[in-house]
Amino acid sequence: MSMMMKERMEPGELKILRLLKARGGQVDDSRYWNLDKGFRGELIFDKWFSGLPGEWIVLHDLLLDHGGSVFQLDSLVIGEDRIYLFEVKNFEGDFYLEDGKWLSTSKNEIKSPLLQMQRCESALRQLLKSLGYQSPIESTLIFINPEFTLFNCSPNLPILFCSQMSRFSKKLLKRSSSSGRLNSRHTLLAEKLCKLHIEKSPYERLPEYQYDELRKGIVCVGCGGMAVLASKNFLGCNNCSYTERVEMGLLRSINEYMVLFNTNSCTSKLIYDWCGHTVSIRTIQRILSDHYLLSGRGKSTCYLLKGTIIEPKGRNDTQK
Ligand SMILES: [Zn+2]
Repeated sequence: MSMMMKERMEPGELKILRLLKARGGQVDDSRYWNLDKGFRGELIFDKWFSGLPGEWIVLHDLLLDHGGSVFQLDSLVIGEDRIYLFEVKNFEGDFYLEDGKWLSTSKNEIKSPLLQMQRCESALRQLLKSLGYQSPIESTLIFINPEFTLFNCSPNLPILFCSQMSRFSKKLLKRSSSSGRLNSRHTLLAEKLCKLHIEKSPYERLPEYQYDELRKGIVCVGCGGMAVLASKNFLGCNNCSYTERVEMGLLRSINEYMVLFNTNSCTSKLIYDWCGHTVSIRTIQRILSDHYLLSGRGKSTCYLLKGTIIEPKGRNDTQK
């Protein structure tokens, strides 16, 4: 059984672009679809790996820093005698190698994913050394999409194609069953790496957006549209007939607002506007007071995300 110590979350940038797209914000579509495709490929890999027998500790999507250089690891797997690094690509179509260059059939050069993986491996090796670990690292670049072909590729490169994955899993299993068991030293390393994980990626490229530019209303989970209307306790989509409880849709919309505007507070009036007056302000107040912390009184009433530390305000602050 493999043990998952760090699961994969939807990348923050992808989430924000998705929310912006739904509300008619200006989004670089190719950037969005690339991130989305990459993320879907990683999820396919995660599912595949979680089905393998054998004893492993799995850490997905680690963002680490060593000596000021930040590197991202798609999947790091701790085995008894070595560490596996899996870089997953969801590329599609025909590519070929020429003097170490990666080219598409239309002769466009892309950044070498192999070089990127080697850089990560080297950074990880140094980081592990600084933590007192000398385990060998075995890196594999996985092309998860069956519609991908790489011509002119030497079989000696650490590359795995979709068609080779089931044979590869047998090799892993054989190794895992012939080596010893994981011990506390392995677990300790996993814990250390989790602690070193950086939450916010410096590679995020977020577009500029303003509250006023975004469409107001409730985004439908079913179709991504905004044709959501409310009846007494339920929200229903006029477009795809998806139905959910008012509470669910409202909490999601509040969360979307907080993520997009990087805040942990809101007012009922603001959420009423954000949801395009779909739900009454009384219902919004009820749901906010059930799930958020009430702060202030009268006109300055606002709701805070639970867990927010309320700093006591000095005299001068309240007079402003
Ligand atoms: Zn819908």
